[in-house]
Amino acid sequence: MTEVVDLLRRLIRLDTTNPPGNETAAAELLRGYLEAAGVECRLFARVPERANLVARIPGRGDGPSLAFLSHTDVVLATPSEWQRDPFGGDLVGDEVWGRGALDMKGEVAASAVAMATLAREGWRGSGDLVFVAAADEEVGDGFGLQWLVEVAPDAVRTDYAVNEGGGERIVCGDRPVYLCSTGEKMSSPFRLLVYGRSGHASLPGIADNALVKAAGLVARLGEFRAAPQLIPEVDGFFRAVSGEVPAPDELLPAAARLGPAALEVVEPLVALTVSPTKAHASDKRNVIPGSCEITLDIRLLPGQKPEDAEAELRGFLGPGDYDLVNLERSGGTRSPLDGPLWDAVAGFVEQEEPAAVAAPACCPGFTDSHWVREAFGTIAYGFFPARAMDPEVGARLVHSADERVPVSDLELGVRFLRHAAQAVCA
Ligand SMILES: [Zn+2]
Repeated sequence: MTEVVDLLRRLIRLDTTNPPGNETAAAELLRGYLEAAGVECRLFARVPERANLVARIPGRGDGPSLAFLSHTDVVLATPSEWQRDPFGGDLVGDEVWGRGALDMKGEVAASAVAMATLAREGWRGSGDLVFVAAADEEVGDGFGLQWLVEVAPDAVRTDYAVNEGGGERIVCGDRPVYLCSTGEKMSSPFRLLVYGRSGHASLPGIADNALVKAAGLVARLGEFRAAPQLIPEVDGFFRAVSGEVPAPDELLPAAARLGPAALEVVEPLVALTVSPTKAHASDKRNVIPGSCEITLDIRLLPGQKPEDAEAELRGFLGPGDYDLVNLERSGGTRSPLDGPLWDAVAGFVEQEEPAAVAAPACCPGFTDSHWVREAFGTIAYGFFPARAMDPEVGARLVHSADERVPVSDLELGVRFLRHAAQAVCA
């Protein structure tokens, strides 16, 4: 059995379901494994049971530094839905089964093995190679990378980083394409406060029912479509895949012509989206509400700010008895589409599968990458290549039952991470 398979199976058997996390067990396992290969390791923990591991192969010079970013926590598994024990780490045929196999103990194990094998070979780059196995990505309560960036910036600051969130192999037209996530959308929730005048429910004529007014606004928001725009990642995607970049209005039809997988990549990236998800008005059945609160889940494109969403929404809804309040200041983030890490990704794809190309894309969700992009300007990509795993099946298994990863993809991941370290830190 290969080293990466063995390490992944041992990681899966440590239950790091978050909450509560208990990631220290995983950090200690990784420390033992890496120290045996001569890699220096440090644990950082805000509370003892939730440690983050940071390992480093120091560079000989002042070349670019690269981090393998990852998280060791996993989401809840309901054993009755699974065909195997979610914390058994079974090897079934050529797949490793268990919670975290895809998200993301597989990449954790591959990162550790890439680092350990380089260390055993006596490899050192010009810049530092760093491995961060962080706690608390799935919930984000401030025990993981967000906290590390604040309290130990020198331990986790690098020029480049490879993280989860990309690497799927899709087919566009008849060309295989490996997606590299160079940017991310970000949720930026808003509260829509609608004002009226309260009153007794028996006399609707003299009150001003905020819930009824809100209903009209919510119905209109259901029709809202932000104007399509061409962001650099979508421009880069079309350049790589077809060589032709359509106008903003033509993005979706052009993607559809390349097939359903291409449409799935492009669709969330043409505009910000707005989804009303929660409503609250009167607490009493017999009191007409004087105000109503609607929660809006808004997903911003990389580079957009909450102000952009607010301006679009106010323009669409026009003046009225309402207010829009941003609940969380956050925007989508991105990294440039060129440079040594991009070259390492593209070169690796060309070497592994000459008929395929690498193309930029953005996660419609988000990962921990935004913390280092925002704090240090780190150029961070989501890329863990998956050649054997069907991207549709993979997407269904993440955070779901029967999560599993093909052994050949784990080995492909180790080869990519070794290649990235040797290319970027050279
Ligand atoms: Zn993850």
